[in-house]
Amino acid sequence: MAEAKKQVVLMKGIGVSSGIVVGKVYLLERGIPEPAHFCYLDMAEVEREVDRFKAALRESRDQMLRIKKKMEDDQRGKEHIRIIDAHLMILKDNMLINDTVKLIREERVNAEWALNKVLGDLMEFFARMDDQYLRERGSDVEHIVNRVLLNLSGRKHESISELKTQAIVVAHDITPADTEQMDKAMVLGFLTDVGGRTSHSAIMARSLEMPAVVGLESITRRAETGDTIIVDGATGTVIINPSDSVMEVYRKRREKFESYGRALFHYKDMPCETKDGRRVRLMGNMELSEELDSLIEHGAEGIGLYRTEYLYMNRKGLPSEDEQVKAYKHVVKRMSPNPVIIRTLDVGADKVAAGMDAVKETNPAMGLRAIRFCLKNAGIFKTQLRAILRASAHGRIKIMFPMISGVEELRQAKAALAEAKAELKAERIAFDDKIETGAMIEVPSAAVIADLIVKETDFVSIGTNDLMQYSLAIDRVNEHVAYLYEPFHPAVLRTIKAVAEAANKAGVSCGVCGEMAGEPAYAFILVGFGVDQLSMNAFSVLRVKRLIRSIGYNEAKRICKAISGLATASEVEAYISAKMPELYKEEF
Ligand code: PEP
Ligand code: MG
Repeated sequence: MAEAKKQVVLMKGIGVSSGIVVGKVYLLERGIPEPAHFCYLDMAEVEREVDRFKAALRESRDQMLRIKKKMEDDQRGKEHIRIIDAHLMILKDNMLINDTVKLIREERVNAEWALNKVLGDLMEFFARMDDQYLRERGSDVEHIVNRVLLNLSGRKHESISELKTQAIVVAHDITPADTEQMDKAMVLGFLTDVGGRTSHSAIMARSLEMPAVVGLESITRRAETGDTIIVDGATGTVIINPSDSVMEVYRKRREKFESYGRALFHYKDMPCETKDGRRVRLMGNMELSEELDSLIEHGAEGIGLYRTEYLYMNRKGLPSEDEQVKAYKHVVKRMSPNPVIIRTLDVGADKVAAGMDAVKETNPAMGLRAIRFCLKNAGIFKTQLRAILRASAHGRIKIMFPMISGVEELRQAKAALAEAKAELKAERIAFDDKIETGAMIEVPSAAVIADLIVKETDFVSIGTNDLMQYSLAIDRVNEHVAYLYEPFHPAVLRTIKAVAEAANKAGVSCGVCGEMAGEPAYAFILVGFGVDQLSMNAFSVLRVKRLIRSIGYNEAKRICKAISGLATASEVEAYISAKMPELYKEEF
């Protein structure tokens, strides 16, 4: 009998990374099933449970050895391999094995229940440790024991890094650490139930030019592994089990999109300036060194935001000073003679790095993140500052501090930098003593006192993602409030205008490195407000350059003046689209 046709399902989410892709679903189910509790087993059953437990240990070990082999073949960093080795050691741990077997036999219970109980005891033991390093080792134990529990349940262990065939990953949530781990050749795109336009996994998808739709709410309930699926990352449309005719429509759209991308290369070597000669510097945002080639290929004139926190993810322990020098040096040499703005560690909120998961906060977006974390953890901060300074001897580097909320914090950050400089001087290690420093303006309080901040910095860069999160009170990763993400909101526009004016008045460069900078219609307004530098993902560089070359600076200034009195985002949008319809006209 012919297989029944699967139902076609159309879903709409938030398209966060353009591109059209058709492929098979890979549903990432990461939950560990609640272990069943069987007791009063007879002796034969008890021994079967012991055997089952030992078989699951062997299976887990074989899986880990396979992962280790793959990492070695792919020449992944030593750090990744060290984590696998640590997990393999835990699988051989006598206490773990003996306690579980003892519990199965003494209480005559099933293997998963006994193992889960032993895991609970071990986690309590780790949580009580005074030493933070040892406390954090608890998460290694939990991680590998969960694998054994999953193997006992008979369910497959789902991990993005273990994908063997090309697929579109569907998951409830994907963290920035997950995106960092993805095998880019295997993941064609991703879809999530949760998330917003400026959540960091969405930003990563754009950087990796990987189509993605987030905030689909129930995609994990609607799609199954093996389903055929169409993803339109620009419109946020997702079609599960599409008909042949729909597939054909999307195939054509995809061709158009790709030829549009190719046509943009016409602008690559042209200067980025308005028709009346205002020069705007277009820079690239980067998280991983893999993104450098694409940024250079698209003509980025330097790095306007290097999100260094990705160096701290998916690993145990912190990156050493030498390791960081190597990473920064690589970027700066590759971009030379263009400048690289290195942002100091911005962990927290949706970006969790090594050692950070020990800090549980009720409201992490407003918690101990970014510069606050660094000022509290002076050793970590100093190591990074020394590394950046050392790399500055090899090219043009600028340092940028994230989440500055006031002048006091800026001064403290600069004092830490002065200390790092003094140390290097005493050690006779070369660095650029005139290295420029800048502050990100992404907390409303900093925007309000921008005139005071620009007196103490060489440049400022507006982080519109966080600035909007805090000024409009919308959680960046919450799909339920994503509709409130309105860059044309008069409050956002007024804030940007005030910051740009303060910077221009002080003769200090004013950039924007939030996602707003990469959208032509928003970039137009930013230029009109006097922003002189825009930093974005690779694909946006040529789109924005094409726009800037087609407008006049005076015209942009006039329109910015005219929208200043408008009351709502839709009024602003209507005004601009009536005056400048070409801003919204993409050729695909
Ligand atoms: C921002 O907040 O706009 C920004 C560029 O920083 P991040 O997205 O890394 O928080
Ligand atoms: Mg930010």
